[in-house]
Amino acid sequence: MPDRIVLQGVTARGHHGVLASEKRDGQTFLVDVTMMLDLEPAGRTDALGATVNYAEVAGDVVARITGPSFDLIERLAEVIADDVLRHDLVHTVEVVVHKPEAPVGHPFTDVQVRVTRTNAAQVVIALGTNLGDRAHTLTDAVAALTALPGMTVTGVSDIVATDPVGGPDQPEFLNAVVVGRSLLHPTDLLAELHRIEADHGRTRDVRWGARTLDLDLVQYGRPGGHREVVRDDARLTLPHPRAHERAFVLVPWLAVDPRASLRVGEGRHGIRPVEDLLEGLDRSGVRPGPAWEQL
Ligand code: ADP
Ligand code: MG
Repeated sequence: MPDRIVLQGVTARGHHGVLASEKRDGQTFLVDVTMMLDLEPAGRTDALGATVNYAEVAGDVVARITGPSFDLIERLAEVIADDVLRHDLVHTVEVVVHKPEAPVGHPFTDVQVRVTRTNAAQVVIALGTNLGDRAHTLTDAVAALTALPGMTVTGVSDIVATDPVGGPDQPEFLNAVVVGRSLLHPTDLLAELHRIEADHGRTRDVRWGARTLDLDLVQYGRPGGHREVVRDDARLTLPHPRAHERAFVLVPWLAVDPRASLRVGEGRHGIRPVEDLLEGLDRSGVRPGPAWEQL
């Protein structure tokens, strides 16, 4: 039996449910989290850094129970699983959400939703377009990313409209950021990004010139985590060498992941919160963009 940490019966009041009365009055939710990870390093070293701090996990669970209301406990379970998988050491998580006061209309003792999710490298992809039907292209690109085998999209930012940076004189861009988890190797993921670009008529003639679709792999693996990939190769540089200075990447990224961080140098001190990086940047060229289209 693999090693695991079991956190059981984390309890708080929340407002999740389809009925208006559930959203208004709230009720008790209980959550169990089972984290599968190798505990031998912690057992050998007695170091908290070698394991997952379950108090921190419990805090995240309570924040989700008491946070914005969802219709379904399936959704609550999913976002809790996403939060737990931010801990790179966890390779599989099982989340059970109990709703013992659910409006079932018959005597019952408990109702639960149980989901199991597997970890993979957390990836950040920046999208940009300034030719053609831009909002449609972005919507289509997100659908293509969502459909990629081995890729799970966990968040999509709003679209921003941005002034071009560098390159020749060219039209305004629309940009967005997608975050997700990838089982694909970084170079295979980049090949898929290039294929999706090509499907949208992307040609590479003028560097930094106008384009129907640009997909950049900003980061592969959480910085400092054991899935992080850092490479200095012109075909695929990770993290993306210009992401840290691009407000059109960092603004939508921070919006979709307020806890995002990016490596800008070596070692632990080279990891910076995206929020801090943005403070030093001129954000005036980044404005709210159009809504996502229905496909
Ligand atoms: P840019 O995105 O800088 O405007 P392109 O999209 O034309 O430029 O990409 C130029 C080259 O950059 C591509 O051939 C690609 O192989 C390479 N590249 C290196 N690192 C990355 C990365 N992290 N994400 C996307 N492309 C990258
Ligand atoms: Mg590119």
